[in-house]
Amino acid sequence: MTSDANLHDIATAEERAFNADAAWQDDVRQGVRHARDLASLPLSPGERAAAHGAAANHKVRIPKAYLDLIDWNDPADPIRAQVIPSPEELEEAEGELGDPIADHDFSPVPRLTHRHADRVLLFPTYQCAVYCRFCFRKESLTAIGRGYAREALELALAYIAAHPEIREVILTGGDPLSLPDKALAEIFARIEAIAHVRLLRIHTRVPVALPSRITSGLVEALQGRLMVTVVTHFNHAREITDATEAACRTMRQAGFVLLNQSVLLKGVNDTVEVLEELCRELMYRLGVKPYYLHHGDLARGMAHRRTTIAEGQALAGALRARLSGICNPVYVLDLPEGGGKVPLGPCYVEGRDGETWRLRGLDGEVRTYTEIVGT
Ligand SMILES: *Cc1c(COP(=O)(O)O)cnc(C)c1O
Ligand code: SF4
Repeated sequence: MTSDANLHDIATAEERAFNADAAWQDDVRQGVRHARDLASLPLSPGERAAAHGAAANHKVRIPKAYLDLIDWNDPADPIRAQVIPSPEELEEAEGELGDPIADHDFSPVPRLTHRHADRVLLFPTYQCAVYCRFCFRKESLTAIGRGYAREALELALAYIAAHPEIREVILTGGDPLSLPDKALAEIFARIEAIAHVRLLRIHTRVPVALPSRITSGLVEALQGRLMVTVVTHFNHAREITDATEAACRTMRQAGFVLLNQSVLLKGVNDTVEVLEELCRELMYRLGVKPYYLHHGDLARGMAHRRTTIAEGQALAGALRARLSGICNPVYVLDLPEGGGKVPLGPCYVEGRDGETWRLRGLDGEVRTYTEIVGT
């Protein structure tokens, strides 16, 4: 692998025309690959006017499988809202941040963030199969932009090897599964060779936006000593299709633990009905456990997609009352300045009087619990 290798470039290469995995290559090739490809879509005048300016801040890319989910008759379609640039994106509010969770302040070497002792983020690529308009890393993706290059990870891998407290390596980016199998196998082997690392975690939207890419070759590249957890990123039940179901089945059969994180987005998934259906279908149909529901962070130009925290808490409370523990995500905010992800509730503790606690039940009634602890 030389430099800047990503699916997008690979699908472009003519010599790949006979590749057996043609399905995903068609999805890439026939999708939106540049802002100029938006011109052929039935956009609103506002979207059309915003496309060029928005693309300067955050690239535009939408595989065909994901594009096909858009109902163009619905201006508020939840798939469209996630990937089509909008005029609101160009309105930046006071206080919004270029690096909302301070990835860069906690980066001791290039392509690595180390904030919690036992786990690191590793960025093998800054490219994605799909670009989500609300992405909190959009400014890093635009500024750095590069794909995988073996040499670019050397310092990060040496850092992991030199820190025995690191047990978990989280591949993120960018989208790690936008890399070719060969690059993934190479990265897997290098991390596997570091004895104190026990878990490899992959944060990805590929199973959602480019499910045809989840091939037997891809899952084979990730087999070995390490436990593998794939954290998908579904935001709406409309993203769950026969194709995403097949992708998740392939990953489950490969032995990966599957979790999902969603971002709470106004106009996309900010009702209890939408979130409930999403969480149930993730678990029942895909075998993917809802892990986090993220409150919107302060990425620039995203005020129109943020809810208030009080709205999020009310949604999280309603989900907690309706869904089993397995189907229920934890509602979190990733704090600015690297404060980490903290649960925002709902909170059931109403108060305490010495050893007697007043706690609100799922039915809304407040009950007491008095501590009795042996000495
Ligand atoms: C989100 C994040 C993690 C992973 O956090 P979990 O709560 O374990 O999912 C690790 N490191 C950094 C810097 C993060 O931002
Ligand atoms: S796939 Fe992830 S990293 Fe890439 S644009 Fe979407 S949210 Fe951001």
